[in-house]
Amino acid sequence: MINVIIAGPRGKMGRAAVQMVQEAERFQLVAVLDRKNGGKRLSDLEGFSGEKSDVPIYEDHEECFKTVKADVLIDLTTPEVGRIHTLAALSHGIRPVVGTTGFSDEDLEDLRTMTREKGIGCIIAPNFAIGAILMMKFAQNAAKYFGDVEILEMHHDQKLDAPSGTAIKTAQLISEERTEKKQGHLKEKETIEGARGADFEGMRIHSIRLPGLIAHQEVIFGGEGQTLTLRHDSYDRKSFMSGVRVSVDTVMNLDHLVYGLENILD
Ligand code: NAP
Repeated sequence: MINVIIAGPRGKMGRAAVQMVQEAERFQLVAVLDRKNGGKRLSDLEGFSGEKSDVPIYEDHEECFKTVKADVLIDLTTPEVGRIHTLAALSHGIRPVVGTTGFSDEDLEDLRTMTREKGIGCIIAPNFAIGAILMMKFAQNAAKYFGDVEILEMHHDQKLDAPSGTAIKTAQLISEERTEKKQGHLKEKETIEGARGADFEGMRIHSIRLPGLIAHQEVIFGGEGQTLTLRHDSYDRKSFMSGVRVSVDTVMNLDHLVYGLENILD
């Protein structure tokens, strides 16, 4: 049995993760980390019922990690606290599976160093949806043939970070195949700032935020007389949970940081 703590259980992703852990035979939810409701039980909160939700809620991560015997922390919070939770979990020998997006390169480097020192695993995945991973892989492949590409990522309007972690990861994978170059007309000028989107090594990333959306991305390649569009849509947060489940299992056998679900899938 793998004992799991979930940080951010009242959030949209956190709720889906609580349900996934409770339904998985090999996992046991042992506590949750929240920024309110410390001292209560998860089953006291609206929307969480049943015996499997009868677990303590902690507001203080140190107290939680010290008191509860856990193997894995699933973090689905915000970049600032997610980073703190992840470092603290590692220092207590608890393996983090992090869905929280917005970690900087420095954060990742700190975590890489810490996992090496501790010799325990950590998985950080900007996107846990298998379809999104395939979209990224296909985009990387297409970049061998198309050097001109723009990424459109579309999310709900409560998302804190832009561009999305998935868009950044896609751009990084494409850049492994693409020779860096500035796209568009050499003399192009923005008459309204931001019109051409964010610049990643000369390719452009556009972030759309609207109510009604969940998580969607298009990668559009352009060549002479043709375009190629790759698109992935997450219509439900359940789309992310099979990736979280695989990560919880896999992180138990790792001794280092893995960034990106594509690195643990065949
Ligand atoms: P959300 O609904 O806003 O949930 C975030 C939760 O974290 C909220 O319940 C918030 O509490 C809680 N929180 C904030 N500070 C906390 C703290 N100190 N301790 C414990 N909990 C704390 O957001 P979401 O849509 O679930 O997304 C959560 C994260 O997952 C974001 O970073 C998002 O970008 C990311 N995400 C990742 C994937 C993936 O596949 N990797 C997919 C979708 C989303 P309050 O309600 O009190 O503010």
